[in-house]
Amino acid sequence: MHIIHLAPEIAPIAKVGGLADVVYGLSKAQKKAGHTCTIILPKYASMNTEELDYLEKLPETVHSTFEGKQYSNSIWKGSLENLDCLFIEPHTEHAFFDREQQYGYDDDIARFLYFCRAALELLCQRQIEVDILHLHDWQSAIAAPLYYDTFQAGMLKPCGICYTIHNIAYQGHCSPNELYRAGLDGHYYLQADKLQDPHDPNCINLMKGGIVYSNHVNTVSPSYAQEVLTLEGGKGLDGVLHHHQDKFSGVLNGIDLEAWNPAKDSRITYPYSRFSEKKKNKKALQKELGMSVEERPLVAVISRLVEQKGVHLMERGIHETLARGGQFIVLGNGPDRNIMHRFYELQRQYAENPNIRFLFAYNETLSHKLYAAADLLLIPSLFEPCGLTQMIGLRYGTIPIVRETGGLADTIFDIDYSIRPEKERYGFSFRHPDFGGVDSALHRALDLWENDQKKWKQLGRRGMKADFSWNISSLSYQAIYDKIAVKSLATGRGASV
Ligand code: ADP
Repeated sequence: MHIIHLAPEIAPIAKVGGLADVVYGLSKAQKKAGHTCTIILPKYASMNTEELDYLEKLPETVHSTFEGKQYSNSIWKGSLENLDCLFIEPHTEHAFFDREQQYGYDDDIARFLYFCRAALELLCQRQIEVDILHLHDWQSAIAAPLYYDTFQAGMLKPCGICYTIHNIAYQGHCSPNELYRAGLDGHYYLQADKLQDPHDPNCINLMKGGIVYSNHVNTVSPSYAQEVLTLEGGKGLDGVLHHHQDKFSGVLNGIDLEAWNPAKDSRITYPYSRFSEKKKNKKALQKELGMSVEERPLVAVISRLVEQKGVHLMERGIHETLARGGQFIVLGNGPDRNIMHRFYELQRQYAENPNIRFLFAYNETLSHKLYAAADLLLIPSLFEPCGLTQMIGLRYGTIPIVRETGGLADTIFDIDYSIRPEKERYGFSFRHPDFGGVDSALHRALDLWENDQKKWKQLGRRGMKADFSWNISSLSYQAIYDKIAVKSLATGRGASV
C-alpha cells in the first residue's frame, strides 16, 4: 500500500507533542511492514533539518489557490531514517510557515487550510498513487472534504481516508469565510450534515469535517474512544461521533523502541539496559542541575504545562514530595500565562531548595536525561487521549503515577488495586482528579521506595520489559486500512467501514 500521512508534526524534526512521536513511530512501523509511506508536512522554518539524512528542493513547483489567487509552492524532499518526507513551502506574501513556532498564530486556521489544499494539489498534479490518506487532528481534517468534493476526480485513483483524533480539545473553529479563502464554498459546508459546529450554527468545525468525510475515524486509545462519546469528554462532538459510531474506534498509540532506548541513548550520560544501572544518571543530573546529590526519590514531570495535564495536581505533588524529603524536577512549558505564572511563583517559593528544579523549556535532550534519572513520573492529567510519557517512562525504568483517564487508564494498572494479573501492573494510579487522589497514589509510591526496595526493583524491571511498541498498534491500523481501501472504491464520501 502507499500510505500518505498528512501531518502537522513529525519527531524529531518538527515536534510539539505526542502527535509528532506517533506520526514518526507509526510510519516507521508501516514501512517495516512493507508499505510505502510518505509524510507530507509544511516546511516550517523552525524545523530541525539536521536530523534529516538529506533534503533537496524538487525541480518543479506545485500551484495552489488562496483568496482567489494562484500561488506556487516549492516541494522539498527529505529522508528521515529512510522515511520519505515531502515538505510544502508556499510562496505567498503571508509567510505561513516561515515563523518561529509551528503553532500559536492568529492565522493558524488559514495556514493549515492552505497546507491541506496544497498537499492535495501535490498528489493530483504529480499523479501520486495513493491507497490510504491518513489525516491527523484538526490541522489536516479539511483534506477529507476537499478530497471528496474537489480533488477526487483528479487523483490517479480513489483512496481510503483514515482520520485520527489525537486530542478532541482542539477542533479548529472558524467562520465560513475562512473556507472561502481556501477556495471552498463556506456556506455549502455550513450545514448540519457537513462542517457546521454542533453548538454554534454560524461556525465551521474542521474536526467535524474530518469525522464526517473520512472512511474511518479513530482516536488514540480505547478508553478515550469511550470518553469522547460522553457529553463531558466529547467537547461538543459527542453527538457527531455517536452518529458515526459504526466507523469509529480507539487504537492505542505505541512508542518507537529505537528512539526511546536507554541502552543506546546518546543523549543520556550513562546508557543502561538494566534497572540497577539507572541510578548513575540520577546522580549525573543532580550534579548538572546543582541539586543536592543524595539518594532520595526523584519525581519528574515532563509535560506541556496546560490545564489538561492537571496543573493543580502537579503543584500538590511538588509540595507533598518535598515535604516527604523527596526531590522533584519539572520539565515543561506552555502558552497559558496564568499557568506559567503559577509555576514561576512555585519556583520563587522554592528558590533556595536544592531538592527541586524547574526547567521551563521544551528540550528533547533534557527530557531523555530526566526519563533516565527519575524514579517516578507524575502524570495527573484531567483527560489524556493516550499519553506517551508513561510508556517512555516505563522503558527507562521510571515508574508512572497516573490519573486513571484515557490512555493512561489503558496502560498503567495500579500495583495495589488493579484486578489485572500482577505482571501487567506497572505503576500507581488514582481515579479522582483531586488532592486526595494524587496524595494516595504518590504516598504509596514513596512508601514503596522507602520501605521495600526489593519490590521497587521488581516493579522497575517489569516496566522496562513492557511492550508498548508499535508492533501491535500498527496491526490495528493495518486492519482499518484493509477495510477502507476496498470500501472507499465502492461507496465514496465518508462511507463507514
Ligand atoms: P501531548 O501530546 O499531550 O503533549 P504525550 O504524552 O502524548 O502528550 O506526548 C508528549 C511528548 O512530548 C513526549 O514525547 C514527551 O517526552 C514530550 N515532551 C513533553 N514536554 C516536553 C518538554 N518540555 N521537553 C521535551 N519533551 C517534552
